[in-house]
Amino acid sequence: MFPDVDACAAYLERLRWPSGFICSACGGTGAPWRHTRGRLVCPACRHHASVTAGTILDKTRTPLTTWFEAAWHVTTAKNGLSAKTLERTLGTRYRVAWAMLQRFRVAMVRAERDRLSGDVEVDETLVGGVQHGGKRGRGTAKSIVVIAVEVRQPKGFGRARMRHVSDASGANLLPFVCDVVASGTVVRTDGWDGYNDLPKHEYTRQRTVLSSSDDPAHISMPGVHRVASLLKRWILGTHQGSVTPTHLQSYLEEFTFRFNRRTSRSRGLVFRRLLEQAVVTGPVTEADVTHGYDW
Ligand SMILES: [Zn+2]
Repeated sequence: MFPDVDACAAYLERLRWPSGFICSACGGTGAPWRHTRGRLVCPACRHHASVTAGTILDKTRTPLTTWFEAAWHVTTAKNGLSAKTLERTLGTRYRVAWAMLQRFRVAMVRAERDRLSGDVEVDETLVGGVQHGGKRGRGTAKSIVVIAVEVRQPKGFGRARMRHVSDASGANLLPFVCDVVASGTVVRTDGWDGYNDLPKHEYTRQRTVLSSSDDPAHISMPGVHRVASLLKRWILGTHQGSVTPTHLQSYLEEFTFRFNRRTSRSRGLVFRRLLEQAVVTGPVTEADVTHGYDW
């Protein structure tokens, strides 16, 4: 479908302006004049636009065909792929592959705006801390990740959301629940004090306190347990454990995007969804890509 950059640009144009071009400067909706190198000129105010300006693809020097190929691999590989694998697959430099993945992860967040509802389990887990040969002292610290998962009756799980937090205090846990879970929802947690104020925020808290120490935790929190083990396996498998705390949230967003679409029959639709978000998400700076996005 996408033999050259023009075909890619035309596709992005349809995703960004589904009912026709809108000038970002004057709001005019007249059909744009087409200049060289994909520039669109507003007939009303002569503003020069492009389909990538003001999006995560802003000022990219990587050809759109490469972006499309990357998006295809990201959305069709069952477990996604690391920057290292993407570098090899596309024949680009590592830095280019890494930057594309980081930008896609930012676009993936936008796709997850609907809050969780129904019965939701919330619990924390520890991620990372695996040491690798030759990298002594690196990646030894465990990070706390709080996970929320919709639990279906009689069995099965719905969507998930997750956040890297500095500690498991209520000051971190409550804002997370309020951001990702619809109010009025039944929230299942363990007996931890950090969740005590949930009823003040219009949630029904269902405390699951384990009666004996040999009760495996996953019996009371099957959803969180399942998602946490998939997440850890993904970090160890696809990324060989090389996830630093600085970038952990980016990885969590990618995992969530993929997890929440695990039953989607059409990979093509997931690909389209990612590019759709890519052209409505604002630019990401080089600093964000290198030092971690400010979530
Ligand atoms: Zn204009």
